[in-house]
Amino acid sequence: MSEQVVRHFINGEYRESASGKAFPVHAPEHGGVVGEVFEAGREEVDAAVAAAKAALAGPWGQFTAQERAKLLHRIADRINERFDEFLEAECLDTGKPRSLASHIDIPRGAANFKIFADLVQGIPTESFRLDTPDGAGAVNIGHRSPKGVIAVISPWNLPLLLMTWKVGPALACGNTVIVKPSEETPLTTSLLGEVMNECGVPEGVYNVVHGLGPDSAGEFLTRHPDVDAITFTGETRTGEVISQAAAKGLRDVSLECGGKNAAIVFDDCDLDKAIEGTMRSAFANCGQVCLGTERVYVQRGIYEAFKERLVAAATELKPGPSHDPDTTLGPLISKEHQEKVLSYYRLAVEEGATTLCGGGIPEMPEAISGGYWVEPTIWEGLSDDARVIREEIFGPCCHLRPFDDEAEVIALANDNPYGLATAVWTENSSRAIRVAEQIEVGIAWVNSWFLRDLRTAFGGAKQSGIGREGGVHSLEFYTELKNICVKL
Ligand code: NAD
Repeated sequence: MSEQVVRHFINGEYRESASGKAFPVHAPEHGGVVGEVFEAGREEVDAAVAAAKAALAGPWGQFTAQERAKLLHRIADRINERFDEFLEAECLDTGKPRSLASHIDIPRGAANFKIFADLVQGIPTESFRLDTPDGAGAVNIGHRSPKGVIAVISPWNLPLLLMTWKVGPALACGNTVIVKPSEETPLTTSLLGEVMNECGVPEGVYNVVHGLGPDSAGEFLTRHPDVDAITFTGETRTGEVISQAAAKGLRDVSLECGGKNAAIVFDDCDLDKAIEGTMRSAFANCGQVCLGTERVYVQRGIYEAFKERLVAAATELKPGPSHDPDTTLGPLISKEHQEKVLSYYRLAVEEGATTLCGGGIPEMPEAISGGYWVEPTIWEGLSDDARVIREEIFGPCCHLRPFDDEAEVIALANDNPYGLATAVWTENSSRAIRVAEQIEVGIAWVNSWFLRDLRTAFGGAKQSGIGREGGVHSLEFYTELKNICVKL
C-alpha cells in the first residue's frame, strides 16, 4: 500500500506544516511505517483556532438547531456511504479486527452525529415564575447558547468513535471544534474533513491539527487563550496536565480518563453470560478499552468453574491480521505500549502471580511478526496491594480473585484510585442494585458490559475523570446556560 501523507484540516482545507515537521505512523499489525503525519506548530494551531472563532461569527452562527441537526444527519449518512474507507483507515491505524471495527467503531462513530443532533433538540430549558412585591411578577427563562471554540483531545483506542462522541454534541449545540487526535491514530479524524466539505459544513467549523502532546499541538491547543472549553479523553496523568492548562482563563474542562475496572461475579449468576461478558470486557480491542475489566472477583463457590472456563475461552482467542474473519484478537497500538504491557506481565510474576494462560508474545506468521502482539493473559494469586492489581495496564489481561461475601467484594472493588466502570453478574436483582449503588464508579453494568444508551451519563468517579457527557450532560458541557429574567 502506498504511504499516506496526513495533513491538518484548517478552515476547510488540507494543509501541511509551515515548518515541514512530520512524524511517521506505524501499522500495529506489522510494525512498518505506512505514512507520515505533519506535526502542527503554534502557527497551525493559531490558524485553526482563528478559523474556528471566525466560523462562529459566520454563517454557522446563524444556523438554527434544526438546520444543524439536518447537517449532522447528512454527515452520519456520508460516513456510512464511505464506510469501507473509514474502516480501512481505522484498521490500518489500530490493527483491530475488521469484524470489531465494522460493528463498533465506524457505525457508532457515525451514529454519534445523528443521535446527538436529535437528542439536544429535545431537551427543555427551565422556566420559573417569580412573585414580586408589586404583584406583577417576573418570568425567568433559561437560554442556552454555544460555548464557543472547543478543543477536542482524543485517544487512540477507539479513534473515530471517541472523537465523534465529542464532536457530535459540540456541533449539535452550535460550537466549532479543533480536534487533536492521538498521534498514533490520525487517519479517520483527517478523513472526516473530506466528509465535512462534501456535506457543506461551513469552513472553520471542524478543524484538525495533528501532533503530539507536550510542547506540540496538544499543549499549544489546550493553552490557547481563544479556546473556550476543552474536552479530553485519555490517561489520568495527561488529564491532570490539561486541567492545569484549562485553569488559565477559567475554561471549562471535561476529562474522561483511565480505569482499573472490577467485575464482580456472584455464585447466583448465569455463568454462560458472565463468561461471555467477561471475555469481552477483558479482551475486546486487545484489552485497550477504558471500561475494560482487569480485576475479576469471583464468589468462592464458583471460582474454580469460572476460572476453568475463562482460561479455556481466552486460550481460544485467535490473534491475527485485521482482514482475516477468524481473527478475534488484534495487536496493541504501538511498540511502546507493547513494552509497557509486557513489563506488567513480568511484574505480575515478580509480584507472585500464577500465570493461568499467556504471559508473553504469541508466535505470528513472518509477515506480521514485527507487529505489536501480546498473548491474552490471566493470573491469580496476587495480593490486593500488588501494582498489577492497582495500576491500569490497558492490555488483554486480568487477575482472578475469590471472595466470600458482598461486603468483602464491595470493599475490594472500591479499594482503587480509579472509579470508571464495573460489571456485576448476578440473577438476584435486589443484590445487583444494592451492590451497584455502593461501587464508586461512573458506570455500573449489571449482567452486561459496554451497553450504552447515549441519553445516559458517561464519565468517571475518583481519578477516572471530571464531569459527565451523554444526553443532557453533553448539553450542559457544550452550552452556556443563561437566565433571562423578565419583569412583568
Ligand atoms: P494519552 O493521555 O496518552 O493521550 C490522549 C491524547 O492527549 C492524545 O491525543 C495525546 O497526544 C494528547 N496529549 C498528551 N499529552 C498532552 C498534553 N500535555 N497536552 C495536551 N494534549 C496531550 O492517552 P492514550 O494513551 O491516547 O489513551 C489511553 C488512555 O485513555 C487510557 O488511560 C484509557 O483508560 C483512557 N481512556 C479513557 C476513556 C474514558 O472514556 N474514560 C476512553 C478511552 C480511553
